[in-house]
Amino acid sequence: EEEMRLQKVVAQAGLASRRGAETMITEGRVKVNGETVTTLGVKVGIHDTVEVDGAPIEGREKLVYYLLNKPRGVVTTTSDEKGRKTVLDLLEDIDQRVYPVGRLDYDTTGALLLTNDGTIANQLMHPKSRVDKIYLAKVSGIATVEKLAPLKQGVIIKGRKTAPARVTIERVDKDKKTSMVRIIIHEGRNHQVKDMLQKVGLPVDKLTREQYAFFDLIGLQSGEYRKLTGVEVKRLK
Ligand code: URA
Repeated sequence: EEEMRLQKVVAQAGLASRRGAETMITEGRVKVNGETVTTLGVKVGIHDTVEVDGAPIEGREKLVYYLLNKPRGVVTTTSDEKGRKTVLDLLEDIDQRVYPVGRLDYDTTGALLLTNDGTIANQLMHPKSRVDKIYLAKVSGIATVEKLAPLKQGVIIKGRKTAPARVTIERVDKDKKTSMVRIIIHEGRNHQVKDMLQKVGLPVDKLTREQYAFFDLIGLQSGEYRKLTGVEVKRLK
């Protein structure tokens, strides 16, 4: 079973900052399994009971929610076998161990939620939840309504038909033979947008997720993140 430093447990219960939690311990306000602990660095597991001022604290981590504008060049996994930077490396000063809700490719940018709330994360990632994901893709080739039409019906990718997507042409550069296409899907298969556009002869050069559910990137520069507001969290549930 995983162990955690006592001051972190107290801090994560939302009772104090990490520093404040340390003070609580040294002041003798914290008990572990009924014994007062005044030294820092004691480790506790989930089966240990922790009391602050005589009241047991909830063993559970405080639930936190963040929205990140993912830059290119970071992976969305929590650790990378090739040692590449992960989205977690971008989050500073966060005590909780959060993880990304779904994935964006290494070279894809845009809206990514991170949380330690497994219930919400699973709910959002479940295909039935039908969360809208809005992508803006720069593609090679001239996008036309005819070319994009199959995506509105669904195309076969890796033996399975995709759900109907909403697609609009935002810009066409006839000289450069490139186009900007906006596509809205609610599935979340690996490389789905790239595969879908490749399938209709418009390979993706650049991909940004402009929106995930009702979260857009307004106010967030590349690499920046913010805490969700209480209202936003309620709305997610
Ligand atoms: N579709 C893709 O192809 N890549 C992403 O990162 C997200 C959706």
